[in-house]
Amino acid sequence: MCVPRLSEVIAALDALWPPERAEKWDAVGTVCGDPDAEVRRVLFAVDPVQEIADQAVELGADLIVTHHPLYLRGTTTVAAGHFKGRVVHTLIKHDIALHVAHTNADTADPGVSDALAGALDLRVCGPLVPDASDPAGRRGLGRVCELDHPMTLREFGAHAAARLPATAQGLRVAGDPDAPVRTVAVSGGSGDSLFDAVRASGADVFLTADLRHHPVSEVVQHGPLALVDAAHWATEWPWCEQAAAQLDEISDRHGWDLRVHVSKTVTDPWSAHHTSPSIDGAPN
Ligand SMILES: [Zn+2]
Repeated sequence: MCVPRLSEVIAALDALWPPERAEKWDAVGTVCGDPDAEVRRVLFAVDPVQEIADQAVELGADLIVTHHPLYLRGTTTVAAGHFKGRVVHTLIKHDIALHVAHTNADTADPGVSDALAGALDLRVCGPLVPDASDPAGRRGLGRVCELDHPMTLREFGAHAAARLPATAQGLRVAGDPDAPVRTVAVSGGSGDSLFDAVRASGADVFLTADLRHHPVSEVVQHGPLALVDAAHWATEWPWCEQAAAQLDEISDRHGWDLRVHVSKTVTDPWSAHHTSPSIDGAPN
């Protein structure tokens, strides 16, 4: 068993999610960390927020790998008076590196939506928007999947809610609850730019996050496609488990003395959900 350097672990992560495959607007890669530092413990999480930095300190982690970037746009300060600077200070004070795999992990094979499909027990048929640079046709945004046993939209909503990690938001479903569901399109994170691809795929339902009134209303009026809006964090958290298993496997192959953890802290920003009474005052 040998203890890898940060540079070696990052090289392994970059082989899984090559940074050059990230979108141009994205900010992936190593945010802080000494390439020569030893890495014994790695923590995977969706968001590089203070709770996760604190958890890494408590765990004695040397590296945090998150899906979301800490800084997406240029910055001129990491002063601890700002909440992002506070994260940077916490990490550097405790010799913890931070590495981000965002849109390069979304389109990877396996990627964020494969993990989401796996969490939902769906059989992946292929990417929703294939990456033109992949001759095998396996990489790309979102996934088109099939259910082994068809169910109604009502049943599928309940199934998805039971399979995804719990959040205050839960799941919202749009469409006829009795409509049959056989083909499911999924995209971890904000997927409302993918409606045209979803329609072209012939999917019965599209499960994603961050859906808004007008686009959803138009999809439902157009029919017959149904929509499931899950919490953004919940759709991407399964990737942490998938990514941790991938790093574990690499670590075994190299004979590294590395412990890999997945944060169970819910960092979805919504913290409560209330149901209002119906408009005539009767319970809903
Ligand atoms: Zn996201």
